[in-house]
Amino acid sequence: MNLHPFTEGLAQGQLRYQCCEDCGAPQTLSRLACTACGSERLAWQQASGQGTVLAASVISRAPSDAFRPLVPYTLVLVELAEGPRVVGHALPGTAIGDRVRAGTFAHEQRNLLRFAPTA
Ligand SMILES: [Zn+2]
Repeated sequence: MNLHPFTEGLAQGQLRYQCCEDCGAPQTLSRLACTACGSERLAWQQASGQGTVLAASVISRAPSDAFRPLVPYTLVLVELAEGPRVVGHALPGTAIGDRVRAGTFAHEQRNLLRFAPTA
């Protein structure tokens, strides 16, 4: 099975992001070219997992059968310490401005991203 580098990272308990090898700009989501300089030399790096919550919402209607057992659940948009932004699950009550740390949990034979508050 050929996993996407982001998914493969989560399977190993790592949070990965793309970074430009020419100008060093971190990329949000997976890109084919650097959003800052246009270079196609993008490499995957392991994030520290530390970040800050920019947005949070509670999902009460699952987008698919696979997520139905999880509702209600909290999704957050997090700006990582390295700069890129990622969306992941979060513990209930997680709010905008919270400092969080990335972790994973197993669901339907996959590891999903979940953030927890840092002490
Ligand atoms: Zn670049």
